[in-house]
Amino acid sequence: MPSTPEQYFKDLWSTIKSITIGLRITLKYMFSKSVTIDYPFEKLAFAPRFRGIHEFEADKCIACDQCAKSCPVDCIYIDKSAPRKIDKKTGKAAGGELLRYAIDYQKCMFCALCTEPCPTDCIHMGKNHDLSSYSRHEMIVEFAEIDKKGLRTPIPLWVERNAGTIEWVAKEKERLEKGELATTAADIPST
Ligand code: SF4
Ligand code: SF4
Repeated sequence: MPSTPEQYFKDLWSTIKSITIGLRITLKYMFSKSVTIDYPFEKLAFAPRFRGIHEFEADKCIACDQCAKSCPVDCIYIDKSAPRKIDKKTGKAAGGELLRYAIDYQKCMFCALCTEPCPTDCIHMGKNHDLSSYSRHEMIVEFAEIDKKGLRTPIPLWVERNAGTIEWVAKEKERLEKGELATTAADIPST
């Protein structure tokens, strides 16, 4: 049925009104401050207690299994050749060899519960959030192995790739290569 002139103008008014409302919302957000950033060219600001990929001080680990026992998803794997304990003179773990300290990041939920019972305060929540890789196997980080290269935490693929062109990423790579800890603010305080 053909519309009447009255209906025609009603529809026209309704269309103009809805377009105006839409444009008003668009204009409001067009001139407001952006909430996204051009990552990784711009640096992300993390909350002080952000919990990322762990940082591990193998030289202080006595392989007591307390962290593994407190992990709700059983994703920490530890092996040693013989008992280890802290040498009071050096403050470092001595005795048997730490054969394996690995965390499976396919399962880890970054709850930080593993940091709480550690008697030597050697496992921390770090600041790196991106461990993207090409295989599932690479999601299992062998911390005792990377310690042999002086690393406390793995160097992510994106850091390797962007360090040559982005200044803050180059600094982050330098920190990781030096084995410097980001912060321990993300750990659950033990007392
Ligand atoms: S952060 Fe939580 S889930 Fe991840 S290893 Fe530690 S205890 Fe397990
Ligand atoms: S609780 Fe600490 S010392 Fe014990 S195995 Fe875990 S990281 Fe090592």
